[in-house]
Amino acid sequence: MKVDSVSTLLEDCLRDLYSAETQLTKALPKMVKVASTPELKEAISSHLQETQEQVARLEKIGQIIGAKMSGKKCKAMVGLLEEGKEAMEIDASAPIVDMAIIAAAQKVEHYEISGYGTARAIAQQLELNDVVQLLSETLQEESNADEKLTAVCQESVVPLTKEEDSLGMDQEESEEPDEDDDDLDDDEDESDELEALSTGSRSKSRNSARR
Ligand code: FE
Ligand code: ZN
Ligand code: FE
Ligand code: FE
Repeated sequence: MKVDSVSTLLEDCLRDLYSAETQLTKALPKMVKVASTPELKEAISSHLQETQEQVARLEKIGQIIGAKMSGKKCKAMVGLLEEGKEAMEIDASAPIVDMAIIAAAQKVEHYEISGYGTARAIAQQLELNDVVQLLSETLQEESNADEKLTAVCQESVVPLTKEEDSLGMDQEESEEPDEDDDDLDDDEDESDELEALSTGSRSKSRNSARR
């Protein structure tokens, strides 16, 4: 494909995103169905709604710059959704399936974040302010979706008992995880102290900023 200008490259990036988003509108309903944790179902289905709006937003951008959005296939999203399908088909307990779904879904969000981030940077270069604004809205939604998935994984997917989780054996071997955490903190403090000694006040202010 010949790309003879920055605006042609932008069009190509946007068409890739348009294909990614339309593929997602078809794939996400399946993920909602397979997920078990209510918070995960909710996170994916509300992002499905946003995804439909993102498709419309890209069409609007196409109108602004006078380019059609159809006609390209995002191969990366084909692959990411294949992995999503694999995640939904693993032979595992419901919480593990949910975590596998989260893993696949976050890869999707990160792909989108990178795609929209670059497209927005190119649009900024071209001083297409309306386009920048619309891409920023979508970018924000993608980041929020990503963070929500992290929170669901940490807080809502019901932890397994040791009997349910075959990895429980491994966890028993390293006893007192709290102590390990303390060790880590100590190491960090030590290295901060060393840094403070060698660099003076600069790292002290960084320490206080961290606390
Ligand atoms: Fe999206
Ligand atoms: Zn792509
Ligand atoms: Fe990698
Ligand atoms: Fe997304």
